Amino acid sequence: MIQIPQSAQTSYNTSQKQLEEAAAIIELDPAAYELLRRPLRELHVTMTVKMDNGRTKIFQGFRVQHNDARGPNKGGIRFHPDETIDTIRALASWMTWKTSVMDLPLGGGKGGVICNPKTMSTSELERLSRAYIRQLGSFLGPEKDIPAPDVYTTSQIMGWMADEYSIMQGKNTFGVITGKPLALCGSAGRGDATARGGIYCVRNASETLGLNLAGERAAIQGYGNAGSNAHKLAIQLLGMKVIAVSDSSGSIYNPDGFLYDALMAHKKKTGSVTFFPGAAAISDKELLELDVAVLFPAALDSVITKTNAPDIRAKIIAELANGPITPEADAILYNKGIYIIPDLLCNAGGVTVSYFEMVQNAYGYYWDEEQVHQRLENKMKTAFLAVQQTSQTYKVHNRLAAYIVAVKRVADAMKLRGWY
Ligand code: GLU
Repeated sequence: MIQIPQSAQTSYNTSQKQLEEAAAIIELDPAAYELLRRPLRELHVTMTVKMDNGRTKIFQGFRVQHNDARGPNKGGIRFHPDETIDTIRALASWMTWKTSVMDLPLGGGKGGVICNPKTMSTSELERLSRAYIRQLGSFLGPEKDIPAPDVYTTSQIMGWMADEYSIMQGKNTFGVITGKPLALCGSAGRGDATARGGIYCVRNASETLGLNLAGERAAIQGYGNAGSNAHKLAIQLLGMKVIAVSDSSGSIYNPDGFLYDALMAHKKKTGSVTFFPGAAAISDKELLELDVAVLFPAALDSVITKTNAPDIRAKIIAELANGPITPEADAILYNKGIYIIPDLLCNAGGVTVSYFEMVQNAYGYYWDEEQVHQRLENKMKTAFLAVQQTSQTYKVHNRLAAYIVAVKRVADAMKLRGWY
């Protein structure tokens, strides 16, 4: 097996454990299981970037293609100082399961660069983004592997990357990447798609549970693209009150709820949600343990562990982040009767609209926002029902049900292709 450094095994172990459980239930063929435990391909790259001070800095990055039995590899690129290859391996496999649960004709991949974009200038970021694409070279392509935004990468970064790839090809090849700006053949509705898909799932879950969410409280951990848009849409589409939010600088609380526009304006001005007028500072642990109807983990992986899981009081946990709950915590929350909408489903709105973007790029014909929302809502509902039905059939919790749906589809495709 692949050697994993001891320091950063959590998400990798989580992903392996989840697959193992699903494989046992569906009695997956041993060869198929071995294949799915590891990525099909991975590329490690080293980049040199001229920094604004005239010095050259060396950066390291990766791209992992987990499985493309059902279609080209698809998944985001993360720019993060703590990036590791094993986190990317886990995230690439989660993309395989995510695209499969959504029944998109895609596989799973993920990329990462070890860097801290918060300390880099715009031009340094542009040079790094372009260098990364140059190094990945023929590993990518609209029919091979299509990256997208993820932690700390933006539509502007996707724009630079699409441009660099197009220069390398000698022709505009915008379909190589999704999450692009609208003016560069991006899709309407991609910006808030991750949060929107999650909110649709919460609405479906509330109907299943017979819960009326109007006027109920929500807490959001993380205030990047997914978290901030979840704030906007929890108010707009569910009529909820968002009483606590956090970002990497800290957590804030107001029992009356936060207005989206005012908080966003504060974050834009100061760079953080902390010190928002009228808000009390609370600890990140307190935020996760608030008595709310819906908790949205919307930041990084492994934040809910066996240590804090017993204290979580939310009725529904909507996983907008990838892998926020460890398997031990999963079992504790399940036994407490908390309804978890697993990441594979809950945050799949992003990759689903990315898929719509690929389709529009291939056609050269673009849909309006209303059409995107409608198609996304349909896709989310179909996947939600498939997971719900599987959970009833196999008498397992939602995450395992999502895995069962996803792994079966990928295994079937591999079988039909003659891979085992
Ligand atoms: N980074 C997002 C995810 O984890 C979106 C990936 C994509 O659009 O390809 O699902």
